[in-house]
Amino acid sequence: MSETTIRIHSKFVNKMKSGSPIILKDAILNIRDLHREGMLLRLVDERGQFIGKGYYGKQNKGYGWILTRKENESINGVFFQQKIKKAIENRKSFFENEDTTAFRVFNGEGDGIGGLIIDYFDGFYVFHWYSEGIYQFKEEIIDAITSQFSYKGIYQKKRFAQDGKYVEEDDFVTGERGEFPLIVKENGIHFAVYLNDGAMVGVFLDQRDVRKAIRDRYAEGKTVLNTFSYTGAFSVAAALGGATKTTSVDLANRSKSKTIEQFSMNEIDYEAQDIIVEDVFRYFKYAVKKNLSFDLVILDPPSFARSKKVTFSAAKDYTNLLKQAIAITSDDGVIVASTNSAAFDMKKFKGFIHTAFQETNEKYEILEEYGLPEDFKTIKEFPEGDYLKVVFIKKR
Ligand code: SAH
Repeated sequence: MSETTIRIHSKFVNKMKSGSPIILKDAILNIRDLHREGMLLRLVDERGQFIGKGYYGKQNKGYGWILTRKENESINGVFFQQKIKKAIENRKSFFENEDTTAFRVFNGEGDGIGGLIIDYFDGFYVFHWYSEGIYQFKEEIIDAITSQFSYKGIYQKKRFAQDGKYVEEDDFVTGERGEFPLIVKENGIHFAVYLNDGAMVGVFLDQRDVRKAIRDRYAEGKTVLNTFSYTGAFSVAAALGGATKTTSVDLANRSKSKTIEQFSMNEIDYEAQDIIVEDVFRYFKYAVKKNLSFDLVILDPPSFARSKKVTFSAAKDYTNLLKQAIAITSDDGVIVASTNSAAFDMKKFKGFIHTAFQETNEKYEILEEYGLPEDFKTIKEFPEGDYLKVVFIKKR
């Protein structure tokens, strides 16, 4: 395939030369030469010196990704095969672990190809294409799995807007069709997943270590409030760990049946648990009025959400969320504060925690911290990719 030469603005050259994989819009001098997503790019500095090769694919901030720094390396089927083979070999311990059958096998730029994510669910691979550009390599990339590894079936999610609209169809690609729900395991916990039903399959794999910690060390004999609970994965972990009762709160209607399903997968009597469809912020008010308190409070909001009345942005509103949680956490109780916002780092997150406790006149102690698990490989040259921050905080 032919390559188009793209000149990089001097302000961005050093960062890109020292390993940053993203091609930012503002870094491109001859932007008019970008005419087709998926076209191969040869990046040079203002003096024409080689920086790297990559592709054009529009995502939020980026206009593409660098794929290689070797001038004589071609980006073709063999290139994709090698990258994917290496990523799969890196996850050998996951493939061998019978207690965990769902994990990430390819994590975008962390594994060398920005814009591409591949998850594994008990023999099924799910490809996430984050731009029209990376989708142009679909055939070579899917072939890199099907020609080198055994598999049951392949599904895909086009995570880019098509004609200005997000389309979620055509999820099945090849192999055998799964029967859904597919039951996967995670450290022995069962989860029902649907690979054919939108971008989110039912469980967020990046919280695996946090769920294990909650089950193994924080739940026994505790009352647990799980806010922004989605399918209730944290509640299931807590119940399996011996929580006296869990309360799950999410405003999405379908979270209720989904949570019942996840409890049932694990032979937990869901009728002994509370599953509430409501705005978390309304629930906090209700809990204060009723004098409720919980030993373990889990906060895992989306980075950004708009409900009927409130707009929540983690970067702006996390301190306030924590203050409301502190008010209904029992003394010596634990708050699990989680965020997947790439807009701020751990230091700033701890600042939010500090402010929230200060403003509520309460003392706290940080017990432990989590980031992304091992299968979500990241590179230090792209810290934005290392988005997950989870802090276990004891209210003193
Ligand atoms: N903690 C979950 C994932 C959360 S995803 C897990 O571990 O699986 C974010 C969830 O927040 C979505 O299910 C969404 O419906 C819910 N949500 C967003 N805004 C909300 C609000 N104001 N009140 C309650 N739930 C909300």
